[in-house]
Amino acid sequence: MAKSKVGEDVDLNDRIASLLRDLASVQKSTQSRWGYKRAAAAIRNLDQPVQNFLEPDGSLRKIPNIGPASTRVILEVLRTGASDLVAKAVAESGRASEVERSRQLRAHFLTRARVVAALSDANLGGPGLEGYRGDLQMHSTWSDGSQTLDDIAAAGIERGYEYCAVTDHSYGLPIAGGVSMDDLGRQHAEIDRLNRRHRGRFTLLKGIEANIRADGTVDMSADELRLLQIVVAAPHSALRSPHDQTARMIAAVSTPGVNILGHPRGRMYGSRPGVAADWPRVFAAARRSGVAIEIDGDPARQDIDYDLAEAAVAAGCLFALDSDAHSTGELAYSETALAHARLAHVPADRVVNCWPLARLLEWAEDSWRR
Ligand SMILES: [Zn+2]
Repeated sequence: MAKSKVGEDVDLNDRIASLLRDLASVQKSTQSRWGYKRAAAAIRNLDQPVQNFLEPDGSLRKIPNIGPASTRVILEVLRTGASDLVAKAVAESGRASEVERSRQLRAHFLTRARVVAALSDANLGGPGLEGYRGDLQMHSTWSDGSQTLDDIAAAGIERGYEYCAVTDHSYGLPIAGGVSMDDLGRQHAEIDRLNRRHRGRFTLLKGIEANIRADGTVDMSADELRLLQIVVAAPHSALRSPHDQTARMIAAVSTPGVNILGHPRGRMYGSRPGVAADWPRVFAAARRSGVAIEIDGDPARQDIDYDLAEAAVAAGCLFALDSDAHSTGELAYSETALAHARLAHVPADRVVNCWPLARLLEWAEDSWRR
């Protein structure tokens, strides 16, 4: 399995960013904690390997947000593959086990450089940017996003999409500005208006990100779900619980009207493990009901990742590769999802975002016939 993973053994950006996070977590002052975290993020966001920034004289070309202390760590890793500086700081902090725990919460995340490499690696095959017709999870100003529906349509057209599903949070999640049913009606009128304007060129789909409650039910009634064209159901609670939640997730993917299991685990980079479940059983249930497993491309989520996605491929699942964008700049996060799918050998035909609109809508409608 390791062989086809682009640069898995040599993603120094990942290794360096992780070491900078280790260093951040053992700092005493908030300011230096933030400094190292910012440096780690800068490395994760580089679109090329950090080795490319090395000058012939052994110094490092300027990278924004990287200060002299972080530069020392980077040069040490480039020279030796590891960092004694960080190892020493962690050992002296007396918090080695805590550092190790948060390291485990950074496993199977891709750096931007690795995303770029996976997208351009012809040996991987699978879904690519050219066959990607539209994004099926995003948030607008109607809930917790900063992009208007107009912005989404313009940015979708700009990216060459045929459609985008607007999936604001449901009313069951007030903490994320969930839309009331009244607001949803007003939003749908605006979507109709925009679709008339872009007819034949681009379509906004009426979607929702419904919340999966602790008992596996979804926080909207069947009648409410019927008003929507794309229903993403996602967990937003009990994401740090070590208890098995297989039954919760199977109930969610077996709910009539649900199309996509959104960010299935709800994990967060370096801080949250997400839902614990017997995932092959969840994937088998999703396969039976025709629910697509989402790869959420938000860099802090990357949920599910290429490693777990292989189990969903084996189970015969469909996939949705989405950005979970809250602003138009974040629509590019779908590229992270595409990279995970390629690394997991997801066949392009199993990616619902690669389907023509008519096929997508037919599949979504089928969710009422299970
Ligand atoms: Zn969500």
